Amino acid sequence: MHIVFIMEKKIIEKKLIIIGAGPAGLTAAIYAARAGLDPLVLEKGIVGGQVAVSSIVENYPGFNSISGAELSAKMRGHAQSLGVEIDEFDEIERAELSDGIKRIITEDKIYEPTAVIIATGAVPKPLLVRNEARFRGKGIHYCALCDGAAYKGKTVGVVGGGSAAVEEALYLSNIAEKVIMIRRKSSFHAEKAILERAERTPNIKILYNTDLIDVGNSADEDSRGSNGSNGSNSNSADFLDYALVADTLTLEERKIPLSAVFTYIGSAPRTELLRGSVELDKYGYIEAGDDMRTSVEGVFAAGDVRTKKYRQIVTAVSDGAIAALSAEKYIMQKTGKN
Ligand SMILES: Cc1cc2nc3c(=O)[nH]c(=O)nc-3n(C[C@H](O)[C@H](O)[C@H](O)COP(=O)(O)OP(=O)(O)OC[C@H]3O[C@@H](n4cnc5c(N)ncnc54)[C@H](O)[C@@H]3O)c2cc1C
Repeated sequence: MHIVFIMEKKIIEKKLIIIGAGPAGLTAAIYAARAGLDPLVLEKGIVGGQVAVSSIVENYPGFNSISGAELSAKMRGHAQSLGVEIDEFDEIERAELSDGIKRIITEDKIYEPTAVIIATGAVPKPLLVRNEARFRGKGIHYCALCDGAAYKGKTVGVVGGGSAAVEEALYLSNIAEKVIMIRRKSSFHAEKAILERAERTPNIKILYNTDLIDVGNSADEDSRGSNGSNGSNSNSADFLDYALVADTLTLEERKIPLSAVFTYIGSAPRTELLRGSVELDKYGYIEAGDDMRTSVEGVFAAGDVRTKKYRQIVTAVSDGAIAALSAEKYIMQKTGKN
């Protein structure tokens, strides 16, 4: 006979829960703490969000140039100096968000907050090439700061057309022998100053009108061709060693020898918790107004997770501040303390 002990989860009432500790969530926490709302921040990944894994930030006021890790550590330190609690270990299982009672159910607890700020950000979009899954972490990467050091003295590719792609190419140019930017179109939509710097960098080569078709390993393919084996005994075959690209004008295909492809082709919102509760746009981003209010009373959205044109650190922190101020107003009205 099996005896199953079901532990009752503790129910905790809070004025404000912030989901996500990126720039938007941490800024919301700073504003909320200063307003006396005693916010709790729930984070399931790295505190600092996408900034924590960005190499260098050069467009955040007050810092001519700062590493993403340092900037996010400063934001975290600021929030914690005001007494903000950040829980990085208790993962959210479910969020029940309605105009009435709101419940955030984690592995250990059930929170019943008066208001919730969703600041869950976005994740990099995959390349969607055939061999992407096979070489993920073995030549296909989404973060130069995290994985770039492994390619010292090698040739690497960077895919993408925005500032993030160009910044990461610049970062990699200090590590790799050569950086090849693979750009599908004939221009970039990156910041002019950053792009000009990349164009002036001797070991960055830009291939315009070039599409990445796939990545592969030639030794692996040779061994498949000669003896039919899948080459799985060879360690070098675990890693990619070329990119197959096509000229978008002539459609001519060719292989470029390289050791890794770093990809920066946009991101997808992290709204999986919210399906069926707050209104999302057709891409899954949260619909929220200028005051960060969502379709559900007492639920606010801030940062990259909401529908907007520009997704940057400054726009995320702006959203975070507004969301906290709107949440404060809502909580005051709810509790009759306005
Ligand atoms: C490589 C790269 C370089 C960049 N460089 C710059 C730059 O130089 N300048 C600039 O202005 N912008 C830059 N950006 C964009 C900038 O980082 C984002 O706009 C900004 O981080 C958005 O902040 P956010 O708080 O909305 O979201 P995020 O930074 O994405 O943070 C969201 C947080 O929520 C957490 N989370 C998600 N789901 C859950 C859940 N269910 N439960 C708990 N926590 C959850 C995540 O783990 C994450 O920590 C860059 C982005 C990348 C990827």
